Amino acid sequence: MGSKGEEALTVKDEFDVLIVGAGPAGLTTASSLARAGFHVGVLEEHVEIGNPVNCSGILGVEAFGRFDLSSRLIRHSLDSVEFVSPRGLRWEFRTDKPLAHVVDRGEFDAELGVAARKAGATVLLEHRVTDIRTVFGGVAVTASEGSDLEPRTLTSRVVVVATGAGMPLLSKLGFNDIPAKLLGVQAELDLPASQVEVYFGHKWAPEGFAWIVPLGRRRSKVGLLCRRDGPRVLERFLSRPDIAERIDINGPATEIRTSVLPLGFLSKSYADRVVVVGEAAGHLKPTTCGGIYYGMLTGEIAADVIASGLEQDRLDSASLGAYETRWRDLLQDEIETGLKLRRSFKLMSDWGIERLMSLARHEGIASMIREKANFDWHRGLIDAVLQNTTVGRILGAA
Ligand SMILES: Cc1cc2nc3c(=O)[nH]c(=O)nc-3n(C[C@H](O)[C@H](O)[C@H](O)COP(=O)(O)OP(=O)(O)OC[C@H]3O[C@@H](n4cnc5c(N)ncnc54)[C@H](O)[C@@H]3O)c2cc1C
Repeated sequence: MGSKGEEALTVKDEFDVLIVGAGPAGLTTASSLARAGFHVGVLEEHVEIGNPVNCSGILGVEAFGRFDLSSRLIRHSLDSVEFVSPRGLRWEFRTDKPLAHVVDRGEFDAELGVAARKAGATVLLEHRVTDIRTVFGGVAVTASEGSDLEPRTLTSRVVVVATGAGMPLLSKLGFNDIPAKLLGVQAELDLPASQVEVYFGHKWAPEGFAWIVPLGRRRSKVGLLCRRDGPRVLERFLSRPDIAERIDINGPATEIRTSVLPLGFLSKSYADRVVVVGEAAGHLKPTTCGGIYYGMLTGEIAADVIASGLEQDRLDSASLGAYETRWRDLLQDEIETGLKLRRSFKLMSDWGIERLMSLARHEGIASMIREKANFDWHRGLIDAVLQNTTVGRILGAA
């Protein structure tokens, strides 16, 4: 993870592509474009890639094959989940093969950074981008370096915004906000768990569910989704008697981290010489709020469209629109179906959730879930479940 000083001395300030943000989406875009021979710069505000992160690190098995990710990154594989109903009834759901793997998210991003550098991209750490302006024939990107250095302006032919959720740069560029948002709240503590646990019930998990993801024999990540007061809502969950009794209060606990998660996508994700990828564009699953894989997929699509634009010197909005057509073909129906399910689930009472879970325990529905369950693509399962008349009645009554 070379230091800022080292790289800054050897870098030219003019690039084919500048990418703002060294998360999975930005780094995937960077690797792809650098491998294609373009001069790529990645600007990251933090001192190192992958720190800090606020993520459980669960990634579907498909991503490993699709992006040739090293199995070294896998901490453990997920072939069972324990669901806990609002009344505290537990149901273990098992699959024949793992659906997903748990990675150390910091290590994962750092590996993507190594790959981007190996492909030839220049990663500039401690570069917080404060302004992006289109100028004649290119883009001027201003970044403040470290804490006490003068801002620096770099230029490129096109810029990729991969900053994760949050609008400061996008608003300046004239993009509309994604109106609906959630908070993802999480802490890491000494709590032994043998498998992933998912908790339902409005009191404990106001926006869908709360989770425990084991990291090792003793340690787990515990988190949930909510709209406001993230730390307070997580503390309330941690005080549940069946959770509190398992926590070793003498063990080290990280601070509670809260991040914004978009629900829905940008109405337009490109402009003249600008493309927005990953969570910044709303590319995540509204059901689980997992965004690593979708971000990498849209990063790859963006790289492909930008590579053609650079070769033909056509980086105007009309030419970059192909990016939006392609990611919408892949993700729009998935995201919209997930949003629909989230809306129905939100209106459902704890009684309705209890009923749904008791139905799921019945073999007919459990085997349908097993057959259709795909960690990354939820539409097939959602459509099949909604066509079940009893489930439909429960959701309809919500
Ligand atoms: C509690 C929680 C748990 C989650 N668990 C999972 C999970 O298990 N699986 C999953 O798939 N997803 C999960 N997610 C979602 C996932 O973390 C994100 O969807 C994913 O990180 C998005 O990737 P990205 O590359 O688009 O953005 P990010 O990973 O957010 O990367 C953006 C980068 O841009 C940098 N940046 C931002 N602004 C600037 C600026 N102005 N200048 C320079 N750099 C800047 C940031 O420092 C950051 O490094 C979780 C989210 C939360 C909150």
